[in-house]
Amino acid sequence: MTNVKSTTIGYPYIGENREWKRTIERFWKNDLTETELEQQLKQQRIHNLLKQEKLGIDQVTVGDFTQYDRVLDLAFMFNIIPNRYKTLEQSPSLKTYYAMARGSQETVACEMTKWFNTNYHYIVPEYTGEKLSLQNNTLLSLFNEAKEVLKNTPKPTLIGPFTFSKITKGYNEQQFAAYLVQLLPLYEEVIQQLVDAGAEWIQIEEPLLTQELSDEDLKLVQVIYKQLAENVPQAKIMLTTYFEGIPQYEQIVQLPVAGIGLDFVHGFKENSQSINQFGFPNDKVLAVGVINGRDIWTSNLKEVSQQIDAILQLVQPKELWIQPSCSLQHTPVTTASETELFDVLKNALAFADEKLEEIQQITNYIKEGKWTNPQVIQDNLTNLQNLANHVSRNNEEVKNELNALTEADTKRGVPFETRLEVQQKLLQLPSFPTTTIGSFPQSAVVKKTRSDWRKGDLSNEQYEKFLEEETLRWVKIQEELELDVLVHGEFERTDMVEYFGEKLKGFAFTKKAWVVSYGSRCVKPPVIYGDVQWVEPMTVKETAFTQQHTKHWVKGMLTGPVTILNWSFVRDDLSREKVTNQIALALRKEIEALEAAGIRIIQVDEPALREGLPLRKKNHSDYLRWATDAFKISTSTVKDDTQIHTHMCYCEFNDFIDPIISLDADVISLETSRSHGELTHSLKENPYPYGIGLGVYDIHSPRVPSVEEMATILEESLVTIPVQRFWVNPDCGLKTRGETETVAALKNMVQATKNLRNAQ
Ligand code: GLN
Ligand code: ZN
Repeated sequence: MTNVKSTTIGYPYIGENREWKRTIERFWKNDLTETELEQQLKQQRIHNLLKQEKLGIDQVTVGDFTQYDRVLDLAFMFNIIPNRYKTLEQSPSLKTYYAMARGSQETVACEMTKWFNTNYHYIVPEYTGEKLSLQNNTLLSLFNEAKEVLKNTPKPTLIGPFTFSKITKGYNEQQFAAYLVQLLPLYEEVIQQLVDAGAEWIQIEEPLLTQELSDEDLKLVQVIYKQLAENVPQAKIMLTTYFEGIPQYEQIVQLPVAGIGLDFVHGFKENSQSINQFGFPNDKVLAVGVINGRDIWTSNLKEVSQQIDAILQLVQPKELWIQPSCSLQHTPVTTASETELFDVLKNALAFADEKLEEIQQITNYIKEGKWTNPQVIQDNLTNLQNLANHVSRNNEEVKNELNALTEADTKRGVPFETRLEVQQKLLQLPSFPTTTIGSFPQSAVVKKTRSDWRKGDLSNEQYEKFLEEETLRWVKIQEELELDVLVHGEFERTDMVEYFGEKLKGFAFTKKAWVVSYGSRCVKPPVIYGDVQWVEPMTVKETAFTQQHTKHWVKGMLTGPVTILNWSFVRDDLSREKVTNQIALALRKEIEALEAAGIRIIQVDEPALREGLPLRKKNHSDYLRWATDAFKISTSTVKDDTQIHTHMCYCEFNDFIDPIISLDADVISLETSRSHGELTHSLKENPYPYGIGLGVYDIHSPRVPSVEEMATILEESLVTIPVQRFWVNPDCGLKTRGETETVAALKNMVQATKNLRNAQ
């Protein structure tokens, strides 16, 4: 086939060494002027463009770069700037932009939320009735800049009007039409200006089309694209979808646009079936997303090429574009710096740059009908086979344990009521027991000591001694504060997943596999490449040490299986359910070891439980079934009087109480200090039958809440939670806080609790 092109939906903007993050953060600290910021970012953009061209991308995308978040860029460009920022400056500039993103002295930031089912978080556009207008067509500047350096005309990209308007908050149903009436002409203006400047294709991203649309929404989509076709007739629009198949394929492919982009990785089955059933219009371009844009693994090139061949057997699009399944911003930049990974693993990895090479290979194959370099295909297969055959993926012990799992493994011996009785007998805690979520401040000294030890400047003995001293110091502080259940403080942990990953079999750690989580914040998830197995105790030493030094109960502290899964890059040859169960079995051994060492309260954190929910509602129940089962597999073998706690944060709980109940955990602590009223309300409708601690203060701020403030929250919660099951705690771990404010806040928390006890 001759009319074939390689392209991308988007490319990571952070740079090989997170240059982008550094530049932006320096600007925030006033280390860079605005001009310097702009110059450095321009260099980074051009570097990225040229690299993509060099890697064989025929049509490079622009507008995938941002100074914080692409959704915010669009809102800002359209003057969707909530009134509270209007007082900051006469005409909004970067100051307003970053105030919306991060808050400022005068104003709080806009809300942030997950971008579909990824771990990226965008700034939610907030419409407060202002008049929309095109401020400054930044996309046009980016297009012009790219055009100058690239051989082929770049393709500007925009998040589409349907998705964008639907994710905007602030308007009610009646105002929606008025909002859209203002919004669409601005899209038209932007697109028209791009066409006038020579843009051949405009990519419009509509990930929301992967949801089942109501008749009304489908109609809306049709109206939007009809209007665009009428008002900017010269624009060739590539309507791009990603993260899933599109359920309303038949109607979507008939929209008056020049091309349709489909995800053939996550939506492979659905989109293939639709193509089979409904064909594809001969007068449109088909963009096939065939390389996974969200994982880190090499694709099986032969298999991918066969998939495309199969599509071409069925349909004859006007032109075929080969591209990744979604923007590559969800995968790290390049494997080039991963020099410390073992070869078998490294050879099976593909980050953004390597994925572009795969796109190039496949595009050439489709163009020429044969592989340009058959050796590459041979090597590709060998690399994949080597990893599949590697001992790490063929651990018989793990396999047998997994196969032996039955329903009984997810059940504790006796029901909660019976457990509560024996636990109270053993633990003898006062009413309204006070505790914390696990970590205490990771001071500069703690961080420095750990990094000295990692560098080898400190011996194991010296480091352990330091950790013991820090723990003992905090045992004393906790005792003086009169907290009831103590923790060891997590001083040895950098991160709640990495720490466990480093001690379990099956995990690898990269040097630079960073991806953006939100704004300039990047995360470097561990890689689960092999069978996960418990090797030796991971937390027993420090927990038992702490228990030996206090008369109070010490709570053991682990990260749960689902959170470990959701915050890692996961192998793709096993189902997520199976990988999670492997982790659960490993954690079960740890919990048993803690119990054997005399620890009778054990907390298993699952802050990312909700994060793993699939995009489609109809798939939720299956996920929740195996995810909650995994938690129960790890926690169900303890004695009746060992108390299992869990903790969750970062999410909306109001419609999530049922899954939490199904964890069958004896106690849960929740992050609720910012939405307390709402949760108490839904707990009233849907009572929670276990022990529960609603976070009584927000740990994300250095502010020390008063005794009265916390007392009010406690009293309000008492309406929905009976005394026997009522716990008192802050709303998350304290590792990011300073010591002084932590002690002051906990002191007030304990005082508020004492007042409550006295009033009973
Ligand atoms: N135990 C962890 C801590 O206290 C929990 C962190 C979290 O919920 N994100 O740091
Ligand atoms: Zn938390």
